[in-house]
Amino acid sequence: MAKSSDSPFPPALRADGVQVADLDTSATPGFDGDKATGAKRLVERQQVLSDLQEKLYANGRSGDPRSVLLVLQGMDTAGKGGIVRHVIGSVDPQGVDHAAFGVPTEEERRHHYLWRIERKLPRGGQIGVFDRSHYEDVLVVRVHELVPRQVWAARYDEINEFERGLVEAGTTLVKVAMFVSLDEQRKRLARRLDRPDKYWKFNPGDIDERAYWPAYQEAYQAVLDRTSTDHAPWYVVPADRKWYARLAVTELLIDALSGLELTWPAPAFDVEEQRRRLAES
Ligand code: ADP
Repeated sequence: MAKSSDSPFPPALRADGVQVADLDTSATPGFDGDKATGAKRLVERQQVLSDLQEKLYANGRSGDPRSVLLVLQGMDTAGKGGIVRHVIGSVDPQGVDHAAFGVPTEEERRHHYLWRIERKLPRGGQIGVFDRSHYEDVLVVRVHELVPRQVWAARYDEINEFERGLVEAGTTLVKVAMFVSLDEQRKRLARRLDRPDKYWKFNPGDIDERAYWPAYQEAYQAVLDRTSTDHAPWYVVPADRKWYARLAVTELLIDALSGLELTWPAPAFDVEEQRRRLAES
C-alpha cells in the first residue's frame, strides 16, 4: 500500500466495522468545524488537490502509467453530481476521465458486466471518476433480482480480483459510498419538485426506490463487508451536509495522490542547451 498522509479523514472514514443501518448521516468525521469553516477549508484544499493533479498529469505525459480512480456510489440525491462539479470541477478538466454508468444499454447487456467498466478506466496520469460503477451490479441488480442470486453472489470475489488487477497496473482506487438519511432524501426530492430548474433531475422512479431502502442498506452493507480490501478499501461519507461530503472526498483524493509521492518529471532535453538556443533565436 502507498504511504498515507497524516490527514484525519481516511482513518475516520474507513468502512471497517461500519453498520450502514446505524450510520449517522449528518456526522462530520475527521472534521470538527462548522459549515463556514468547512467551506473555507475546501477552497484551500482544492488548490492542493489541483497542484497534485497537475503533477500526476505531467507524469502521465512522460509515460507514467499511474492513475487515480474515484468510484462514487450512493442512492439518488446522495450528492454524487455535486462531488463531480465541486471537487473534480476544481481541477484541470484535461486531467479527468469522467464516466457515468446508468441502466446498461442493449449493447452493454450483451457483454460481461465489467466490459463497459474496462472501456472507461483512466489512462496514465488521469484522475478517473465513476459516477456509479460496477458496484451497481451487486446493488440495484441484487435489490431487484435482475439476475439470479448465484450470479450476483459470485461477483464480490470477481470484483475484488478485478480491482487487484487495476491496482497492480498502477491505479489507486478511492471508493466512496455516500449516504443521506431517508428524511434528507425526501427533502432533496421535494426541492427538485419545487424548482423548475431542478425538474430535469427528478425521476418518478426515485420515489419507488425509497420503498427498497432497507434492501439497499443490506446490499450496501454486503458491498462494504465483502469488497473493502487492503488494495482497494471503501470509505463511507455521511452526506446530509453537502459541504462536508465535498471536503471529505477532496481530502481522500489528496491522500491518494500524496501516497504516490509524485515529483515533477525530469526534462527530456538539456535545459542549458535550450536556454542558449532560445537566447540566440
Ligand atoms: P442518475 O440517476 O445517477 O442521474 P441515470 O438516470 O442515467 O443517472 O442512471 C442511473 C440509474 O441506472 C440508477 O437507477 C441505477 O440503479 C441504474 N443502473 C446503473 N447500473 C445498472 C446496472 N448495471 N443494472 C441496472 N441498472 C443500473
